[in-house]
Amino acid sequence: MEIKLPRKALVTGAAGFLGSHLCRRLLDDGYEVTALDNLFTGTKKNIETLLDNRRFSFVLHDVTQPFWGQFDEIYNLACPASPVHYQHNPVETMKASVLGMMNMLDLALKTKARILHTSTSEVYGDPLVHPQVETYWGNVNTIGIRSCYDEGKRCAETFAADYRREYGVDVRMVRIFNTYGPNMHPKDGRVISNFIMQALQNEDITLFGDGMQTRSFQYCDDLIEAMRRFMELPREKIDAFCSRHGLGAPVVNTGNPGEYTIKQLAEETLLQIPESKSRLVFRPIPADDPKRRKPDITLARKLLDWEPKIPLRDGLSKTIAYFRELQQGA
Ligand code: NAD
Ligand code: UDP
Repeated sequence: MEIKLPRKALVTGAAGFLGSHLCRRLLDDGYEVTALDNLFTGTKKNIETLLDNRRFSFVLHDVTQPFWGQFDEIYNLACPASPVHYQHNPVETMKASVLGMMNMLDLALKTKARILHTSTSEVYGDPLVHPQVETYWGNVNTIGIRSCYDEGKRCAETFAADYRREYGVDVRMVRIFNTYGPNMHPKDGRVISNFIMQALQNEDITLFGDGMQTRSFQYCDDLIEAMRRFMELPREKIDAFCSRHGLGAPVVNTGNPGEYTIKQLAEETLLQIPESKSRLVFRPIPADDPKRRKPDITLARKLLDWEPKIPLRDGLSKTIAYFRELQQGA
């Protein structure tokens, strides 16, 4: 009788918000998962319920250092993602993006693993094309306070495209637009966790600028579904898709095309936390803050037969429930 061994996945940034959801999903899908993280912004709390699973193991490791192991699939998520965190440690952020990507691509090359990289809508910078399509090259400051993240991710994409062209590595990339949900750190600093925590604690809701800048918010489960579908696709199908759509490498936007002003987000948050005594206050807008952002997801729809299912209202409600519980447990 043939014994079928589970497929092996490596997840970097596994103790973070998205990494923890991905690990859970991979375990549900029958994988053996190695979770790698240096716990810079992530926390073991996010994965503590997974630690009892015999198909799950955690390794404390920094992706800027080489890592060895035999895997079928590598998911590269390691990198601080909140502007507050990456601006706190910009050099490490750039290293995590660029050296981390290089180390993971080398591992994929040596072991013939597939690799899926988490890029970002930030590669479009403060976009001059709206909504953003994958073939738009972006409008990015190379020396501003967001550059460590934006340019780090752009460089990582270039690395991935060249490892594919030069060495034949099987890469896939998602450009993630603002994604939220349970397991975000309450002090993460990103807008959704900030607004919910402020509302729950009756603190002022801090709108940067006039609050009229827009973002498109994707619930975490929708993103994880897109990532899994992308990883499952046969390489030939992806290569043909790239040729047909003039893509230099396999990359698709993943986000929810619903577009909201930050003020609308604050109002919706307060609507869902009716007991809150918080007021809206306006604070200076940080440098290089993009004014509009909304993904064109035509390519993801076609390639992955996917689209987000969870509207902002429902996703916010699940996220608020998570933060409420967290607060009660604190
Ligand atoms: P997060 O900060 O919660 O998770 C990042 C994880 O990477 C953390 O656990 C952190 O400790 C770990 N990490 C950071 N530097 C590391 C290093 N040098 N070595 C090993 N581990 C390291 O953020 P997230 O929202 O879960 O983001 C995950 C990935 O998705 C990131 O690469 C991010 O750029 C990308 N992304 C996220 C969003 C979003 O809206 N959540 C949007 C675009 C892109
Ligand atoms: N923002 C805000 N108040 C906050 C945190 C963020 O008004 O407390 C704004 C921020 O200036 C940006 C948007 O919300 O315009 C999204 O910010 P976030 O840090 O979540 O992610 P970004 O899309 O900027 O990377």
